[in-house]
Amino acid sequence: MRIANLRGRAVVVVGAGDGAGAGTADRAVDVADASAGRFGPDPQSLVGDWDAFTAWAATADLSAGEPFEVAELGAPVPRPRQVFAIGLNYAEHAAEAGYPPDATPVTFTKFPSCIVGPDTVVPLPEGHVDWEVELVVVIGAEAHRVPRERAWDHVAGLTIGQDLSERITQLQGSAPQFSLGKSFPGFGPTGPWLVTPDEFADRDDLAITADLSGERMQGSRTSFMLYDVPELIARLSAVCPLLPGDLIFSGTPSGIGNRRTPQRFIRPDDVLVSSIEGIGALETRFAAAS
Ligand code: ZN
Repeated sequence: MRIANLRGRAVVVVGAGDGAGAGTADRAVDVADASAGRFGPDPQSLVGDWDAFTAWAATADLSAGEPFEVAELGAPVPRPRQVFAIGLNYAEHAAEAGYPPDATPVTFTKFPSCIVGPDTVVPLPEGHVDWEVELVVVIGAEAHRVPRERAWDHVAGLTIGQDLSERITQLQGSAPQFSLGKSFPGFGPTGPWLVTPDEFADRDDLAITADLSGERMQGSRTSFMLYDVPELIARLSAVCPLLPGDLIFSGTPSGIGNRRTPQRFIRPDDVLVSSIEGIGALETRFAAAS
């Protein structure tokens, strides 16, 4: 099942692959209307009642719905209480960044005010703005001290994220400022929708790519993560309770602009397309700082 945020309202996205027939365009079924007000309309509210929502959706009549454009979608989880992000979680990226693989996941936050949807224009701050495509995990049930064997039970779904980063702010000073350098307005594009884990043939091995203005910059598979999704949930939840609707940006593969020769940073006319197998793509455009 795919869940999206259409103009601020929770929708189930149905189309080809959902039993509606090949070639069928995606349609959005309004959750509040279809459930007679039991769920939604606020997309954030679904993850607070996830088990009941998915049980309802499994038998609900989703044959109605309206066509929509991705440009009309907002962040699938617009107001997460906690946003975890993991650095250096692919060996080739850790190597290009100049770090040996760590014995624990490098953890920081993207402050939630930076979270935006799948078709946005991000104002470029002064500095060196870089791309990082990442698999984003959405928590569906509180997870505290959860062993890796039960970690997936706490996941509502997966979506695509861009961990946009301004490298000067991020790396200046005696201790790096990862969280600040990655939290400028619009620096957390997510979407286009949340896909439930049962939809994937292998939820632990998904192709992941980033193209900047038509050039392939990153291409890998999520199975190359040093700490996979269950391990991240186990390690993070050993310290913090993970709350419904929380996001985990799970780290980026190699190919970032800061480590290219010559370096390449995002310009106002660039278009960044991020894709993950089984989810789709999100497209971000940029504007000069005003
Ligand atoms: Zn990142």
